Amino acid sequence: MQAFSNAGSGDIVLAIAHRIVENRGYLSDIDGLIGDGDHGVNMAKGFSLAAERLRGRTRPLAVSLATVGDVLMTEIGGAMGPLYGTMFSGFADALDGVEEIDAAAFERMLRHGLEEVQSIGNAKVGDKTLIDALAPALQAFAATAAMRDDFAAALDALIVAAEKGRDGTIGLVAKIGRAARLGERSRGVLDPGATSCAIILRSLAEGAKAKLDALEPRKSREAQR
Ligand code: ADP
Ligand code: MG
Repeated sequence: MQAFSNAGSGDIVLAIAHRIVENRGYLSDIDGLIGDGDHGVNMAKGFSLAAERLRGRTRPLAVSLATVGDVLMTEIGGAMGPLYGTMFSGFADALDGVEEIDAAAFERMLRHGLEEVQSIGNAKVGDKTLIDALAPALQAFAATAAMRDDFAAALDALIVAAEKGRDGTIGLVAKIGRAARLGERSRGVLDPGATSCAIILRSLAEGAKAKLDALEPRKSREAQR
């Protein structure tokens, strides 16, 4: 069974935080096209505060995800604080008490995060929000895991689907959130939330893949041949 330990994997979340902080300017530039230009600022503020709390020692993945959820929920303005706060808390809750994270546990994590964000934000696929990255990522992960029984392959499929979903937001008209006020004029550019969500999901999946590789170096080298 392919799995990695919850206990030693909180550093994945620190890497996610670094990727978001690196993309501060890019995310705000995108938000400047159909929103108020604060998305990167909001996100970088939240994730750098979270990173400060996480630095130093390795925590369980579930604990680190919960820390990010708390920080975003309480410290970040805009639509994203509560939405991403809820997503990360949802991820964390699904992994609480799980010792070994296998594909089934990872899928439950993604599904619970998605359900929780949708329960507070009411966005559906096609509304031009972060859901347009998250929902297809979950679907691709679940489909690949079911078909191939290969956790790493499912993580690869997740990354591809999240980025395809992100790119698909270019053709969409925003139905919800600030950009919805623009109507048709919101078409033709990326959705900032879908863009940050694709960054988060890629980093999360790459972190999980690195944990799997570290546990099974021989097997993964063989697979690459
Ligand atoms: P604000 O819109 O308050 O300035 P941000 O700029 O930080 O907040 O975030 C904008 C992003 O929030 C959008 O690109 C969209 O992806 C996401 N978003 C807005 N409303 C919702 C919602 N109800 N559900 C999911 N995502 C949403
Ligand atoms: Mg904004």
